[in-house]
Amino acid sequence: MLDCDQYLLPKSLDEAFGFLETHGDAAQIVAGATDLLPWAREGRAGDVHIPVLIDITRIPELNGVALEGNRLRLGAATVFQKFLKDSVLREHAPVMPHVAVWFADDQLRQSATIGGNLVNASPAADGTPGLMALDAELVLHSRTGGERRVNVTDFPTGPSFSVLNNGELIVAVEFDSAAEYGASFEKVGHRRSLVISTVCVATVLKLDEVGQNFEDVRIALAGVGPVPVRLSECEEMLSGKTVTAALIDAAAHLPIDRVQSRTRQDYRREVVVSFVRRGIVEALASIGCDVGPFETQELETANG
Ligand SMILES: Cc1cc2nc3c(=O)[nH]c(=O)nc-3n(C[C@H](O)[C@H](O)[C@H](O)COP(=O)(O)OP(=O)(O)OC[C@H]3O[C@@H](n4cnc5c(N)ncnc54)[C@H](O)[C@@H]3O)c2cc1C
Repeated sequence: MLDCDQYLLPKSLDEAFGFLETHGDAAQIVAGATDLLPWAREGRAGDVHIPVLIDITRIPELNGVALEGNRLRLGAATVFQKFLKDSVLREHAPVMPHVAVWFADDQLRQSATIGGNLVNASPAADGTPGLMALDAELVLHSRTGGERRVNVTDFPTGPSFSVLNNGELIVAVEFDSAAEYGASFEKVGHRRSLVISTVCVATVLKLDEVGQNFEDVRIALAGVGPVPVRLSECEEMLSGKTVTAALIDAAAHLPIDRVQSRTRQDYRREVVVSFVRRGIVEALASIGCDVGPFETQELETANG
């Protein structure tokens, strides 16, 4: 059970930082509360009393989607449901609707924010690999330090830890439009939603003008180590090469050694190979490129 003495709703960044300064260690930031509430409710932290909760979801800078030239900026309080509904996000962040489909259920998606997902820093968070594949930059802000920018790949430092300083907020997420890119998201679980993934792979890729060669490939993997990672070895193997089933299969086998989780290692390795391969194939299919059949056996996953 979570309770608090004061629930504050700042209407500006200045007001939020003022509240943080006034209440110091007694205050806790909250957005959708979908991590905070279960943490207190399910006995993970026992009964929790937080004197002051500061709800940042009404701050204008943390809301809205803006496309300036080729650069997209979305507020950190953007909820996952918006990736399914907002036409600008659907066009320019093509991997995120795939992430959102897999994310919990309609009700959770209406509250769960992208900022909360990043700060929670779960090794198996769904939003983080999606943003990594978009090569996103996070805009952080604090009263004393002002604004600083961090690539999303450098943000999580371990389970539940990140480079975010005390009193600092994620204000926005920025990335170049990926409107011309194909995208996919693969996630393993026992049910289609309401499950935190054990392994997930986000893929964003582009072909050259001829439509036969990989031009830009970005693949991010979560759930097999302490933090989500970009698969640079796969990206490098594919970039500039002609699309073939054999090349994709070879690239999919490269990240096997990335699996660090102590439990179910063999299973996770198999899932990684199968997901990376399928992620690339599905991202290609989303831009009309059919790779044809693979000889390698596909691993069965629960979404079928
Ligand atoms: C039933 C259920 C299903 C779920 N399914 C999934 C799933 O499929 N995939 C998945 O990845 N996660 C899932 N989650 C986890 C959770 O919903 C997400 O991590 C969500 O994105 C958290 O966002 P929030 O706004 O609710 O965070 P909150 O609970 O409000 O906050 C989480 C933490 O982040 C901090 N914080 C929030 N926003 C900011 C900010 N802008 N700046 C600085 N600090 C901030 C808070 O202080 C707090 O420490 C699930 C949770 C539940 C309960």
